[in-house]
Amino acid sequence: MNPTFEKANPWLDDLVSYIPGKPIEDVARELGLEPSQIVKLASNENPLGPSPMAVKAMQEALLTAHFYPDGGGYHLRIGIAEKFGMGIDNIILGNGSNEIIEFLGHAFLQPGDNIVTAEHAFVVYKILAKLFGAETIGVPDPNLTHDLPAMADAINDRTKIVYIANPNNPTGTMVQENELDRFIDRVPKSVVVALDEAYYEFLPEPPDSFKYVRNHANVIVLRTFSKIQGLAGLRIGYGLAQKELIRLLQKTRQPFNVNSIAQAGALAGLRDEAYQAETREMVRQGRDFLQAEFRKRKLKYVPSVANFVLVNVGNGKEIFQRLLKRGMIVRAMDEYKLPQWIRVTVGTPEQNRRFLADLDRVLTLRFTD
Ligand SMILES: *Cc1c(COP(=O)(O)O)cnc(C)c1O
Repeated sequence: MNPTFEKANPWLDDLVSYIPGKPIEDVARELGLEPSQIVKLASNENPLGPSPMAVKAMQEALLTAHFYPDGGGYHLRIGIAEKFGMGIDNIILGNGSNEIIEFLGHAFLQPGDNIVTAEHAFVVYKILAKLFGAETIGVPDPNLTHDLPAMADAINDRTKIVYIANPNNPTGTMVQENELDRFIDRVPKSVVVALDEAYYEFLPEPPDSFKYVRNHANVIVLRTFSKIQGLAGLRIGYGLAQKELIRLLQKTRQPFNVNSIAQAGALAGLRDEAYQAETREMVRQGRDFLQAEFRKRKLKYVPSVANFVLVNVGNGKEIFQRLLKRGMIVRAMDEYKLPQWIRVTVGTPEQNRRFLADLDRVLTLRFTD
């Protein structure tokens, strides 16, 4: 081996990087299409774009881009705290909520430790655990829903963090509040419970997850501006926990981890409740529509509470490729060991109809090949 790499951390050898949804520009270049002909329903983004109020705030923030950002994120953290009736000390900002998953690794994981997740949970937990030399215990999730009693049973002496994606990506399922109550009572106080609520705002009647933060020093709730807020490109998310845990995590971050444009856009977006309500309603209708159309076609799907649906198309990778050739970007699920499935983000009504038309074309192709 090249001597430069001989001493690299050995656990990086079999680390498989995250496979993101394909960007529109890449697909346009590869297929020789115009970007405007391509629809991306691959990364659970908001098809309406950012809130106009967020855009305005970001435009204003550009004029002071020569200053370093407020590393403490004062205004945004106050805004979040006020919205949820917490204190500024209960909030940490991340360069996407994914960065807070990394902070948890910095704070708690050493080689030989482990994290507990569901087998088909968001794959970033496992990738980032590996970065710190930690193992992932992926607990079987029958019906593609987290099995919380089994996850509690899986915790051992080397377990540092349990991740619960609620709702989960890519399955679109969630656990109920009473199940979560029982689970959190069972978890040892020395183990951090991270409730990843990236899709929380899409729920019509969201559970009260802040009660866990109030009552348990080992619970952190993760939220993001990437999904309902339509700010995925800015990379900004936040964590809510008791102040001791937040103080610890603050030590692990770089001084200016969240840029000033993102802070401004996020604060304005947070206050634009009407925009979030509009998105939530569009997603609800679009999801009902897609699921009804899947039923008509006798395609198996996992009933979703989020802004995407997992649908069984027989050979996910092949269907993904064929959709891609038509300029329709979705997500193949082999990375999640669900090779028969694709995940499609709920788009605008027009995008959803285009997806179904493309899907019909490529499914027929499959039968006539
Ligand atoms: C999209 C997503 C996130 C958000 O990631 P960001 O880094 O905030 O963009 C977090 N968790 C899950 C389960 C997700 O699907």
